Amino acid sequence: MKGIFPVDKFADMRTPFYYYDIDLLRKTLEAINDEARRHEGFCVHYAIKANANPKVLRVIRQAGLGADCVSGGEIEASIKAGFPASKIVYAGVGKSDWEINLGLDNDIFCFNVESIPELEVINELAAKKGKVANVAFRLNPNVGAHTHANITTGLAENKFGIAMRDMFDVIEKADSLSNVSFVGLHFHIGSQILDMGDFQALCNRVNELQQQLESRRIIVKHINVGGGLGVDYEHPNRVPIPDFKAYFDTFAKRLKLRPGQTLHFELGRAVVAQCGSLLTRTLYIKEGATKKFAIVDAGFTDLIRPALYQAYHKIENISSDEAPETYDVVGPICESTDVFAKQIDLNATKRGDLLAIRSAGAYGEIMASQYNCRPLPVGYISDEL
Ligand SMILES: *Cc1c(COP(=O)(O)O)cnc(C)c1O
Repeated sequence: MKGIFPVDKFADMRTPFYYYDIDLLRKTLEAINDEARRHEGFCVHYAIKANANPKVLRVIRQAGLGADCVSGGEIEASIKAGFPASKIVYAGVGKSDWEINLGLDNDIFCFNVESIPELEVINELAAKKGKVANVAFRLNPNVGAHTHANITTGLAENKFGIAMRDMFDVIEKADSLSNVSFVGLHFHIGSQILDMGDFQALCNRVNELQQQLESRRIIVKHINVGGGLGVDYEHPNRVPIPDFKAYFDTFAKRLKLRPGQTLHFELGRAVVAQCGSLLTRTLYIKEGATKKFAIVDAGFTDLIRPALYQAYHKIENISSDEAPETYDVVGPICESTDVFAKQIDLNATKRGDLLAIRSAGAYGEIMASQYNCRPLPVGYISDEL
């Protein structure tokens, strides 16, 4: 073992691959359940889009979480993994007819609806099946999140959700349609949020909207505040489990739930990011004019976050104990953005050394592509090695 890694078992494995520390995943899920259960009416869903590896999904389903889907494929993946349809919510700005029909056929818990035309289509497709679909409206709360601009979703300028001023119109519209049943409000302000003040701002907004609804005697059964809790990418060893206590306590304290209301959460990154690492072998050390490159066999086809959002991932050489030297860690793909890190310190690295790119369990394997005709990376869980 080196840290959390069974290095000996990795010796003959083909790289790159994802490695999921299932003990850590189980501990993370326990922490979520322990903290959420302190509060009456809290229901946690897992956002499938963060990682849909079937072996990972099975562990999350066993912990009793529901599923938050953003496509028909994700509904299929969650049902296959055994998530009960009664705990599946389905969001997305562009749901196609087959995806809506799939949700209807499986009697999923709720469609999170993002526009009036979508509401009308759900009503029409439900009518054809003689069903009534539960719908919640995703409102755009115009709350900014202190996170990367590409992953903030709750500002008025973003494509997501329905404007707050249209709230009463869409509810009235739903009441006028006979094959949809209005059950709740949905929000999601962004991702990798570590400032609880952002979630407090969301709570304040939800409180305002609930007051407006109450003044018209409208009762909402469910409030869904989405996901977005961040993880510590700098210190995966020191902070392997996010502060779920601070997160759930924020909502318990600030969001004024009405009697009998349930509060839903859709956590993705916070559940799976820290348990996953991308393992890659060093192919060559290249001495450039001004710096040293560690050229590895993983590229942005395996983990696109650094290229897409300039995201930071901690990298460790788990084959070497030698004194650190400074490297740019780069992949083999024919694009200049194929860089995992610049000017970082690694234990002196040579050809064949295994590097672990940490905190890669969320938005890693699932975003892999085959650009350059590269094979997709395989994901292994610690239990199977
Ligand atoms: C992506 C997404 C989530 C999960 O976000 P995380 O930052 O991974 O927690 C939750 N809800 C919706 C609607 C999403 O699109």
